[in-house]
Amino acid sequence: AKKKHRAGYSEFGKEFEQELQQRLHMAAELRHCVERNELHLMYQAQICLKTKRILGAEALVRWTHKGQIIPPNDFISTAESSGYIVPMGYWILEEACRQQVEWKTELSYEITIAVNVSIRQLKDPQFLKRTDQILEKTGINPSSLEIEVTESMMMEDNNTLHSVLNDIRKRGIQVALDDFGTGYSSLSYLQQLPIDHLKIDQSFISKITKSSQDSAITALMISIGELLNLKVIAEGVETYEQQEELIKLGCSEAQGYFYSKPISKTEFIKLLTTMNQ
Ligand code: C2E
Ligand code: CA
Ligand code: CA
Ligand code: CA
Repeated sequence: AKKKHRAGYSEFGKEFEQELQQRLHMAAELRHCVERNELHLMYQAQICLKTKRILGAEALVRWTHKGQIIPPNDFISTAESSGYIVPMGYWILEEACRQQVEWKTELSYEITIAVNVSIRQLKDPQFLKRTDQILEKTGINPSSLEIEVTESMMMEDNNTLHSVLNDIRKRGIQVALDDFGTGYSSLSYLQQLPIDHLKIDQSFISKITKSSQDSAITALMISIGELLNLKVIAEGVETYEQQEELIKLGCSEAQGYFYSKPISKTEFIKLLTTMNQ
């Protein structure tokens, strides 16, 4: 019996080791993704529910590795634990800002660009300096840039994090609280957060027309936004019914497959010219 147990254990050990090897391999490969030009951004429209115009775009990163497009959920955590997210994040921020300015010059108006950042990036001592350099280099209007931080990341109550976000906002850059509703922020805590925008997590939106509880929770989150003077955007809107329910609840902005999936920069400018004419 002892032998059997051992065999089972080593099998598990093998699997674990394999996964560890894969992770190490991925971390090593990731380290070259910027210089090898393997990263690109996709853009997803953010819509005003009153006018149905595009107000902004969220930049979402993709990695092309050995001919395969790898979604961020498969590599961001590896990039975070290896620390490579920091240089990678600067590339993403600069590329997104450059794109925003390019659209602005092609159009007669401008839209905002939202960029996801992880905690590791905000804790980089160079973050503000590098951000300033990117603002200057690209010429983006700081108020057209938004940084998305997740609610769970802000739960790790951290003074440096709050002060970095305050400094970000002093520059006119906006801050959005992503995945809102999945953490456990209290009202009083939310009130102290240096944020401008709440993004209601898609897990609530996906059930909004089926569960009265999810609809009620969403209504509550919209009220919290109003109370704290924050803009509120619903993420993951996939159907017309969900949109109509959100309008009924007083939500002002939405994002999701119902309007557009994340698309390339050239597809995005086409979408802008058709939807915002
Ligand atoms: P997120 O910031 O919560 O982004 C929303 C995710 O939901 C995106 O997945 C988006 O494509 C997807 N989505 C949008 N609308 C819908 C919808 O209607 N239905 C459904 N089912 N999904 C929808 P994506 O692009 O795979 O990104 C996953 C996560 O990876 C992001 O979640 C974000 O946390 C992270 N991520 C993406 N880009 C970056 C980046 O540049 N930097 C960092 N640090 N993280 C990033
Ligand atoms: Ca986001
Ligand atoms: Ca989100
Ligand atoms: Ca998320």
